[in-house]
Order: sequence, then C-alpha cells, then structure tokens
Amino acid sequence: MFFEKLQILKEKGLLREIKDRLSPQGPRVKFGKKEYINFSSNDYLGLSNHPYIIGRVKKAMDEYGHGSGASRLLGGGSILHKELEDKVAQFKDTGSSLIFNSGYSANTGIIPAITDKDIVIFSDELNHASIIDGCRLSKAKTLIYRHKDLSHLRELLRKNNAKRKIIVTDTVFSMEGDIAPLEGIFDICKGYNATLYIDDAHGTGVLGNGKGALSHFNIKPEPWIIQMGTFSKALGSFGAFVAGSSEVIEWILNNARSFIFSTTLPSCIVAASIAALDLIEKDSELIKRLWANRNEIVRLLRDIDYDIVESETPIIPIRTGTLENTLKISRYLYGRGVFAPAIRPPTVKEPRIRITVTASHTQVDIKRLIDALKELRK
Ligand SMILES: *Cc1c(COP(=O)(O)O)cnc(C)c1O
Repeated sequence: MFFEKLQILKEKGLLREIKDRLSPQGPRVKFGKKEYINFSSNDYLGLSNHPYIIGRVKKAMDEYGHGSGASRLLGGGSILHKELEDKVAQFKDTGSSLIFNSGYSANTGIIPAITDKDIVIFSDELNHASIIDGCRLSKAKTLIYRHKDLSHLRELLRKNNAKRKIIVTDTVFSMEGDIAPLEGIFDICKGYNATLYIDDAHGTGVLGNGKGALSHFNIKPEPWIIQMGTFSKALGSFGAFVAGSSEVIEWILNNARSFIFSTTLPSCIVAASIAALDLIEKDSELIKRLWANRNEIVRLLRDIDYDIVESETPIIPIRTGTLENTLKISRYLYGRGVFAPAIRPPTVKEPRIRITVTASHTQVDIKRLIDALKELRK
C-alpha cells in the first residue's frame, strides 16, 4: 500500500529525504565526503557549537548527568530548569515562564490548554504547523485570516459573537521571513478584548536585540499576552518556553498535556539555553553581525535580480517558480558546494529556495552563494 503511495510522491518530486551531517551544525557542514556552505539552519547566531556554551554543558553534565528520568512534575527537572525559567521571565519581562520539550510540543500542548469550546481562535493562514496542530487538538473553533491581513482579521472578529477570543500568530513567519504586524494586532486585541498568543520561535535571539518581537515593536508584555518561543533556533540549544503572567503559566503547567505527560529536557540542554541567554545579553556583537550578513546577502541578491519575496529577517526565500525549477536550482547549488534546500508543498504552497543566513557566515561563504546564483542566471 505504501509502495504505490511513495512512487506517486517520487514522481511528483515531493519525496523527502533525510540529510545527516558528519560535522557539527554550522556555516560549513559535511555530508558524505564533501563540505558544503550551509544556508539551511536556524542556528542564526552560531551558538549550537560554541566553546563557551559547550563548557557550561559539560559542567552541567558532570553535575546532573545526561538523562532526566521523568516528567517535570515527577521530579525529572533540576534546579537548572528553574534557573532557566527565571531567566526567561526576566528576559521577556513577564511574571513567569515554563519550559517545554520543543516548540512543536509547546504549541500543541498550550493552545488546547488555554482554549475551550466557548472561545474562538483567530489564526494567520501562514502560521507554523505546530500552531495549526495545536488548534486542531483544541476544542475551540478556529477561524483563519489571510496572511497579515488586519482588515480581514477585523472583519472576522466583527462578525463573530463569541464571548472570548484569542488571536494566534507567528512573529516571524518561518517560510516567508516576514514579520507579523504586531502593533496593529495589539490594538485589535485591545479593541476586541482578545488574548494574544505569539510564537516567537524566529524572533527570540534575532529581533529586538535578541529579546524578541514584542521588544522590536516596543510593546510591553501585558497579562493578556502569552509568548511562546524556542531555544532551538537562534539560541542554538533545544526546547521551548512559554512566558506570561504567573496565573496563565500555572494554568498551563496544570493543563498542557505535552508538558505533563512527557519526560523533561536533560539538565545539560537546559544549561546550554541558560548559557546562550547569558551570551547574547553580554555580547550584542553577535546579533549585529547576523543583521549585517543578512543585509549584505539581500543587497547582493537584489543586485542580481532575485526575488526574495517579502523577507524582512535572516530567513530569505528566493522565488523559483515551478517545483521542477526549484529542485533544479537546489541541486545545482548543491553541486557547487552550497546547501540551500528546496522547500516544497505541503510545507509551502509555492515552491522556493529558502536561505537562512547566520552570524557565522563569512564574506567568502556569502560570495560563494552569490557567485553560484549569478552563474545560474547565465
Ligand atoms: C521551528 C518552529 C517551531 C517548532 O519548534 P521546535 O523546537 O523545532 O519543535 C514552532 N513554531 C515556529 C514558528 C517554528 O519556526
């Protein structure tokens, strides 16, 4: 049964393949015998293999071992978990925070926990799959508004007479690289007395001097705003968090099934997240370098007439037209030692090459990408 189905995927160019590295994550990675310049990771600040953080991880491993043995509520956590939560709450300027095992498990656990059948969810059409799945798991009705379209959002809100409403959005959209219009959404939430739930997976460590999207827009955290984010992208570690008022966090810890029924993160991974936060608080150069590299690549891509859609962040989609063309370009780049993966349906509607640039790419790395793309034009 699956054989035929797999054949169909293959014929359509939609069969996915795992690519495992023989090297650490970084701007240059090894697949098989060859080294590639890597434009595919979300390790924006190059912290996934950082000597300072490795030192802190080793120390935590010596003190707490590498396994955690139980869910948090059953004693699987160490005091490092609490230390990280205090740090996140301070970093995000909220009353409290809670660690989750991944961004995926955070969204699929939190959204059902904070909603019920009497609440209506308003969700951006391009929200991350984990948000979509969280909405599907919840008892609430979900209404989808067109991407970043605030008049559509207002129209849906106006027509709906639910007593309680929640607006859910990515801050940075992971396949478009654009930023949600949070100022407008903030005002709409106030006008309709709605809760705001933001997924700051790609904003944390990148926007607002690393503090994330709210800080970028100068929006003060309010008790009716719930912020989720991950340690797995710019912070180069693993896991996720939710930050908000002490009350909402206590509710989530009592109700989010992905929190309650899953073994907690190992302390050494928690230590990596603490160390990463320490590092970006101390060293603002990293984030500056990320944005300098990002702006440089965007300028060079525009010079050679590539369409980067609506990118405003280090996520830079390149419009490539058909699926066939997208795969061809990705393979061409790979042959030239540049790893820039094709993103295909169903992840996106319109196929594209998605480039993510990091603080640790060098001028030479950037030039290799641009030169390969230039040659492709010919
Ligand atoms: C990556 C991502 C997630 C999932 O986070 P993981 O820690 O990788 O599970 C959730 N939301 C958004 C917007 C993401 O980009």
